[in-house]
Amino acid sequence: MAVLWLDEISAGDLEKVGGKGASLGELTGAGLPVPPGFVVTAGTYRSFIEEAEIDEELFDAVDVDVDDSSALAEAADRAQELILETPFPDELREEILESYGEVGDGEAFVAVRSSATAEDLPDASFAGQQETFLNVTEEDLLDRVRECWASLFTQRAIYYRQEQGFDHSAVNIAVVVQQMVDAEKSGVMFTSHPSTGDPTMIIEAAWGLGEAVVSGAVSPDNYVVDREDRDVDVTVAEKKVKHEKDEATGETVEREVPQDKRNERVLSDEEIGALMDLGERVEDHYGEPQDVEWAIVGSDVYMLQSRPITTIDESAGDGADAADAAGSADAAAGLTDGSGVQSAEEQTAASSAGASGSSSGEVLVDGLGSSPGRVSGPAKIVTKLDDLAKVGEGDVIVTEMTMPDMVPAMKRASGIVTDEGGMTSHAAIVSRELGVPAIVGTTNATTVLEDGQVVTLDGDKGSVLEGEEVDPEEETEPVEEVRPQSPVKPMTATEVKVNVSIPEAAERAAATGADGVGLLRTEHMILSLNQTPEKFIEENGTDAYTKELVEGIRGVADEFYPRPVRVRTLDAPTDEFRQLEGGADEPEEHNPMLGYRGIRRSLDRQDVFAHELEAFRRLYEMGYDNVEIMLPLVNDAEDVYRAKECMKEAGIDPEKRKWGAMIETPAAALSVEELAEAGIDFASFGTNDLTQYTLAVDRNNENVADRFDELHPAVLRLIGDVIETCREHGVDTSICGQAGSKPEMVQFLANEGITSISANIDAVRDVQHEVKRVEQKLLLDSVR
Ligand code: PEP
Ligand code: MG
Repeated sequence: MAVLWLDEISAGDLEKVGGKGASLGELTGAGLPVPPGFVVTAGTYRSFIEEAEIDEELFDAVDVDVDDSSALAEAADRAQELILETPFPDELREEILESYGEVGDGEAFVAVRSSATAEDLPDASFAGQQETFLNVTEEDLLDRVRECWASLFTQRAIYYRQEQGFDHSAVNIAVVVQQMVDAEKSGVMFTSHPSTGDPTMIIEAAWGLGEAVVSGAVSPDNYVVDREDRDVDVTVAEKKVKHEKDEATGETVEREVPQDKRNERVLSDEEIGALMDLGERVEDHYGEPQDVEWAIVGSDVYMLQSRPITTIDESAGDGADAADAAGSADAAAGLTDGSGVQSAEEQTAASSAGASGSSSGEVLVDGLGSSPGRVSGPAKIVTKLDDLAKVGEGDVIVTEMTMPDMVPAMKRASGIVTDEGGMTSHAAIVSRELGVPAIVGTTNATTVLEDGQVVTLDGDKGSVLEGEEVDPEEETEPVEEVRPQSPVKPMTATEVKVNVSIPEAAERAAATGADGVGLLRTEHMILSLNQTPEKFIEENGTDAYTKELVEGIRGVADEFYPRPVRVRTLDAPTDEFRQLEGGADEPEEHNPMLGYRGIRRSLDRQDVFAHELEAFRRLYEMGYDNVEIMLPLVNDAEDVYRAKECMKEAGIDPEKRKWGAMIETPAAALSVEELAEAGIDFASFGTNDLTQYTLAVDRNNENVADRFDELHPAVLRLIGDVIETCREHGVDTSICGQAGSKPEMVQFLANEGITSISANIDAVRDVQHEVKRVEQKLLLDSVR
């Protein structure tokens, strides 16, 4: 049998039909209304290559040095060519086409989706490698199936398998062929509250195919249903567009919703009832709350996908599948693109959880959702520091870019919107730590929004909407939000730590249950003095400067004691100093990111650095033996030896204290062996800088934000090599860049054997679970 029908498949058939096939089969078997379809099994792929006798040539072709990019490209081309040019045996061709003829009316539009059986890969979606095709008909079906098979041999897929040590010949691929649903209405449903787990179902619905909802192209209606009394709280949104199939071409197109339907409620009470019944059945079947994608055609309700709400990993890859089944393109791919932009599912989840009240819902500006949450308040346009005084409790700050001296106002604000910046900009980092929803890189918020205008900020979707949508009473406490929800935090061999940039965030950071602080940035302690270090010392003396640092660090060290707190010495680019008093004396730099910052500045101004190190000496003297010293932006062993000398001169014994270097430049990564010989105890990846310097992409430049990819193979290769070298030299490894909060990076690092991962406050909980999952998988694999 070359194919298996969905109703013949259950969850246990993973080997035969891959993850997607097994999940759809399980739902079908449970009697849930899944669109009909079949799976061309993994065994079929296998016999295809074996019977055509291309298997050996195929595996030989991809057995190359993946670090040699031209060899890799050639290997991928050759492997794909072998598959694409091998004709289908007649029998197989007939069986697949015959099966197709039994789907729907025999001429149905189907989705053709790869379903890899290599579930022992960290995540099949990790490399984003496998193909999906929508709106396929008989004519193209066989070609599409073969293209799915060939997608097992893209450059990225080959690279990742090789890097992860997986045997190419052990990986198989099945292909799901499933009828597309021409949805009149569609959306998502959380069978229990996505953040509290309360028995409250949340349904989002819009006209047409599901892509419009999951991609955020449309603000959907929101239905909050109390599962006990079935009481429904409805928020009807203005739905300007919908996605539907173009009858002529079969393509999915975006169309305007007719005026009279825009503000019409999508779901009737009966439909909500039907969805609730479905939600309860699927939750019962799996025994845990589910995140379901559904579609309605006429009076039929279909389930396109279901996955546990809490499983971060699956929300990335499978989300795309669900959207695909609904007739959408790869709408949910956002999570894996490395830009830090969240997946459509996450966006939907968060907006569902937070939405209430009413507003016109019109999107005024868009940007990068850099700190999650949904809040409403009057916009306050801040163009100069004097404007900060007008920012009151609950206002939304709208500014070109935030500056360190804005922190007090940022704490008062309910939300922050900036014209400039990316996911690692000051505004993004500080707002996340404060737990204040934020959107950065809008390009035009300060010109489009008006002072005093009431707006709703959706920090998950990255959009600012007109009007008030969130009752301030409903906003949650930032400290409460991050507390672990299960009473026992996952125990992991890889430590999970937290990043802190402003001492004020220490309590919130500690509430996460993190194993320590992987990065405490000292910049904000100094920049918030409103004077450059030199100026502050000139006016207040060296002792006052040291004291400021001692107090700032101590607050965090206390909060975490005895858990370790890795404190980084000063690293602010000159353009940040320029805003401060004394800033006029800063060197004029053409490109401050490549300039006078980090250890370069410290070694150049050892007179100032000495007072910084004196703060560490005092802390050690006070008994804060949990404090560790981390050196930023080192390039080579010489930087480390010189800094070590400075430590000694300041009365710190490098042999007795734990200290290390950040790996933020390719130079540092390539000289890590020498750094180890210079005596570092740890190497910590600053992926914000490592990515910018490896890819030549300015991390603060929104014009190239889409090219800022911490998961780029070149960055991963540097990281992987450093971890290996450090392991050989007994040096701990860690990550403290923004990417440590991304599931894909966490999977990669845990697999590589990193010692610790330091995440943003709001990501710690998810990272703990993700690490646990990878570790369990590694353990299982080792005994299988
Ligand atoms: C980094 O570069 O990844 C990092 C953590 O340092 P910063 O963001 O402060 O430059
Ligand atoms: Mg850095």
